[in-house]
Amino acid sequence: MSRIALVRAPNPSAMTLTGTNSYVIDAGGGEAVVVDPGPVIERHLDALVANARERALRITTILLTHGHPDHAPGAAPLKARTGARVLAHPFSDVPRDGDAILDADLRVGDLSLRIVDAPGHTFEHIAIYEPHERALFTGDVILGEGTVVIAPPGGAMRPYQATLRRFATEFAQAERIYGGHGPVVDDAQAKIAEYIAHRQAREAELLDALRGGAQTIPELVLAIYGTARPILWPAMARQMLAYLIALAQEGTVAAHALAREMTAEETAILNPSWASIVGAEHAPLVEAELGTMLQLDTLYAYRLAR
Ligand SMILES: [Zn+2]
Repeated sequence: MSRIALVRAPNPSAMTLTGTNSYVIDAGGGEAVVVDPGPVIERHLDALVANARERALRITTILLTHGHPDHAPGAAPLKARTGARVLAHPFSDVPRDGDAILDADLRVGDLSLRIVDAPGHTFEHIAIYEPHERALFTGDVILGEGTVVIAPPGGAMRPYQATLRRFATEFAQAERIYGGHGPVVDDAQAKIAEYIAHRQAREAELLDALRGGAQTIPELVLAIYGTARPILWPAMARQMLAYLIALAQEGTVAAHALAREMTAEETAILNPSWASIVGAEHAPLVEAELGTMLQLDTLYAYRLAR
């Protein structure tokens, strides 16, 4: 029987799919590790405590894959209830008892959990590998379905792609992926390969769109994604920005600022007002995921540099 229990938080949304996945891992010796307690929702914290109790376990360690509001805020109240220590990436600004030592083993009970530095979605993201069940806990680096938002300033494309490649090479023995949202993935290696290929294909599409004459991010978004589902355009725009920053740094793409003001449609794509779109309650999570607190005041035209 698996030592890993998935307890899904009741916070479904466009950003969180069916909700945030929290995991309660039986570490042996009567101890449990919780990965990502999720947002502060009392009945979800109740469910985590009950899951451990039903298996005669004490929650002694809470690990945070990253600090986003759908993953981390439950740590403080869960710690208050259980006395567990809270560990996160050294770059995290979430209140905690200590840093998870990167690229080292964390002993809990009779388990050795490998803590993996996994930048890209955020720069304070860890993944966790549990060798007995060959389980890779990926947080928001890889989800059970769909793809992940990689958006500046919190995230960056090349570090993200390097993290995916690292999963494929250093954790080639991983069998299952336990992501931050969506179902558990039974073929870990196929999913990692799919994610790597998706990013490469998207970048190729971006370069093709530049060759085809698209210049600004709104033009690129329309050229690549078409006119369906405009609700997704702001997220697409921030993905484009993440690629373009990398391509400009590498000298593949050149950018110059346009002298004109943005149109209303360009503003809606580049600097959406989330509170009026998704409501004040959901706006902070969308802002954190898409990085739209970073306002893009200048419209740039991009072209291939060579
Ligand atoms: Zn996230």
